[in-house]
Amino acid sequence: MFRNYIKMAACGTAAAILLTGCGKESSSSGSGSESSSNRDIFAMDTFMTLKAYGDNADEALDDAVERVYSLEETLSVTAENSDIWRIDHASGKATEVSDDTITILKKAEEISEETSGALNICLYPVLSAWGFTTGEYRIPSDEELDGLLKNTDSSRISVSGNTVTLPEDYQIDLGALAKGYTSDTIVEVMREHGVDSAIVSLGGNVQALGKKPDGSLWKVAVRDPFAPDTDMCVVEVGEKAVITSGNYERFFTGEDGKNYWHIMDGKDGHPADNGVVSVTIIGDSGLESDALSTALFVKGYPEACDVWRNDPDFDMILVTDDKKIYYTEGLEGSFQNISSMPAEVISLA
Ligand code: AMP
Ligand code: MG
Repeated sequence: MFRNYIKMAACGTAAAILLTGCGKESSSSGSGSESSSNRDIFAMDTFMTLKAYGDNADEALDDAVERVYSLEETLSVTAENSDIWRIDHASGKATEVSDDTITILKKAEEISEETSGALNICLYPVLSAWGFTTGEYRIPSDEELDGLLKNTDSSRISVSGNTVTLPEDYQIDLGALAKGYTSDTIVEVMREHGVDSAIVSLGGNVQALGKKPDGSLWKVAVRDPFAPDTDMCVVEVGEKAVITSGNYERFFTGEDGKNYWHIMDGKDGHPADNGVVSVTIIGDSGLESDALSTALFVKGYPEACDVWRNDPDFDMILVTDDKKIYYTEGLEGSFQNISSMPAEVISLA
């Protein structure tokens, strides 16, 4: 089973347990044997595991790892001279950026429209006020948040060709979608090298290419948001992305004893608290699934179900704050509940 890997905590000390490495192994299946190679890297503040099967696996993985580091440089909000850093520091002037950035910005706009603004890449100043960008956590006042929210209207991002213009005092970050785009890219690099069976986990965001070498489906475990060291369910998938947003991934406990997490509701600038604690999207595109996981976390339950019913080209697993699991009907037969929480199907009708 391909397990989710622990997402990096926001604080720097956890980086000390960084693992990097690569390996090769031979495995046998009923129909023969196939060698696999893997790479464990740390990029985008996240432990990543890439595994590929077949003859071209090693060179494909080397290329993929290079692409990941290059995307990290392009998409980082903090690295000086990344596309995003230059957009954020352009003081209202137009900035020329890469095709990668444009693709992500367009998807962000599309999913933002589809979810009535729940996905809003302009909330970076709000995330900063809470300390999620530095690890110096605090609870900002409502006045401070109201002031910051004035500069978060995402319809004011202007994209023309490869040029992006942002009003002065605006800042964007692509944290909600960058890893999904990265896993799409890894899969694409694998394909270019003729690899037809591979699986990657980017801090718990899993994406598969093809099926397992023996022709069977991949088993992907999804974490229990109430006990993140354990899994709550397993889904069997083919060539899909399985991407989760959860309130346990990055949070701090305030002096008031409450937990405050990293996914913000643009309506009030507070951590989104609309009834769900984790949202897993199972879809064809990593980028879209990542955008949706964050957006539907903000939407909450039952609104996330309305978004799905309007355009059910993906599946999802929601966990609500009253400890119930809901999963869409497309997962019937491939969803296995291994938790003590009750699980209910969300149907289209
Ligand atoms: P994810 O783990 O994919 O749900 O992404 C969470 C990250 O997206 C956060 O760490 C922020 O960088 C960013 N973010 C937080 N809230 C929002 C939001 N409402 N819309 C877009 N991005 C957000
Ligand atoms: Mg996301």
